[in-house]
Amino acid sequence: MVMGDEIKIRYHNGFDKIKYSDNSKENLAIINRTTTVTTTTSVYQTSTVNILDDSCKIINNNNNNKTSATITSSYRKDNNNTNIKHYHQNNNNMPDVDDANMQWFHGKITREEAESLLTPREDGLFLVRESTNFPGDYALCVCYNGRVEHYRVIYNDNRFTIDEEEFFDTLIELVEHYCLDADGLCTRLRDPVVNNNNNNNNNSSNNNNSNNNNNQASSLLLDPKAFEAAGWVIRMNDLKLGEILGKGEFGDVLLGSLHGQKVAVKKLKDSNSKAAQDFLTEASLMTSLRHKNLVQLLGVVFDGPSICFVTEYMAKGSLVDYLRSRGRLHVTRKDQIAFAADTCAGMAYLESKQVIHRDLAARNVLISEEGVAKVCDFGLARDQTLGLDGGKFPIKWTAPEALRFAKFSNKSDMWSFGILLWEIYSFGRVPYPRIPLADVVKHVEKGYRMEAPEGCPNEIYDIMRQAWHFDPDCRPTFSIISQKLDQLRALTT
Ligand code: ADP
Ligand code: MG
Repeated sequence: MVMGDEIKIRYHNGFDKIKYSDNSKENLAIINRTTTVTTTTSVYQTSTVNILDDSCKIINNNNNNKTSATITSSYRKDNNNTNIKHYHQNNNNMPDVDDANMQWFHGKITREEAESLLTPREDGLFLVRESTNFPGDYALCVCYNGRVEHYRVIYNDNRFTIDEEEFFDTLIELVEHYCLDADGLCTRLRDPVVNNNNNNNNNSSNNNNSNNNNNQASSLLLDPKAFEAAGWVIRMNDLKLGEILGKGEFGDVLLGSLHGQKVAVKKLKDSNSKAAQDFLTEASLMTSLRHKNLVQLLGVVFDGPSICFVTEYMAKGSLVDYLRSRGRLHVTRKDQIAFAADTCAGMAYLESKQVIHRDLAARNVLISEEGVAKVCDFGLARDQTLGLDGGKFPIKWTAPEALRFAKFSNKSDMWSFGILLWEIYSFGRVPYPRIPLADVVKHVEKGYRMEAPEGCPNEIYDIMRQAWHFDPDCRPTFSIISQKLDQLRALTT
């Protein structure tokens, strides 16, 4: 850029930040307002283009003010082969990947694979992959000056962002935006690397339908090949197995190591069994759900006749074990409200996706190294014909209408959440301590409800009682309770 060149200036965040671009080269920089914008040459010299480094970090922000997306325009003009169109949301609000429109989406490929696909290194050649470093996020990989820049695309609260300034409801809108304008990236996006696998299989983790009927939802991905194509398959050679972390319904859960990262591996022996199908159903549903309070699926291993699925490692184990082993002396009020609020936030997310858990209990909440509670075992396909006497049926956690008429809903999950709250505030006791299992339903149907655990705050017991309303329609939603618990959390010291 030289003196006299025309530059485009855009003001962001109440003038704290200025973006400008040189129209000819499409260089675009973000500078602080403190930088004097007197001559175009000085602007060019003092500005910093906030490109990400190789480790795929977030674009630096000079302040945290958030602005909403400023450009929501639709079409590239020169889209001879990009064919970028709007896509539709399905009724679960999940990104409903339209293969033809997301040709640039390559699923869960590695950084190295992305770089080898991005050849020759022509400026603006790009693709989008799922981030391996940040499970649940994506990476936009784009060529510039003979290099590949990897931008982390953060997926949070159902929105996508690179710079935490502009947010998009869909990856397509994000790509469209950066096709029109580099807007802080090293270059605007020009040509996609087309993913040929996209054409005939359901090649995205977001592609399955997470509705209430898990069997239907999962039929897309029950075939191991579909997992493979979607990039969810982890090779056994990449995985090192360690000690047993716990015993699950499906088989042992082992500690593992994947590219140096600790993971949990749920192992299952016979891949043809009903349990295996359930297992795959769970995995296929889990691929489409991402939230900081849900245990994240990282991939599936098909190893001869056995299948494993690999999730993030939750160092502090299950919530019920945590409460029992530490007890009153070590688990503080603050911990209790944090576990309750975290779990509820994960459940509110499932509720927003119309996914029913069916087995919410403190044993199915895991605690991370940092003490964050995350819900696991969601979306498990359960045998609905299982009678009340079915040995493993969680009678004490299940709402009356679900027990009696198999009427499971987000509201029956809310009942279970009430029981889970009781578990948290009783430091991991078994619910209905003095009532024999066989009599619980009878008592509950007659109106009996558990008392507040010793020392339980009134506000929390209040939530339990609302959750245990006999009429499901009168129980609150997770979204409402989540707000309430967040408020209580903020007030708890
Ligand atoms: P299932 O629901 O099939 O019975 P779980 O998934 O609840 O099995 O796992 C059983 C036990 O294994 C848990 O109670 C916990 O101790 C351990 N475990 C499961 N997943 C993880 C994980 N991601 N990180 C750490 N420990 C885990
Ligand atoms: Mg479990």
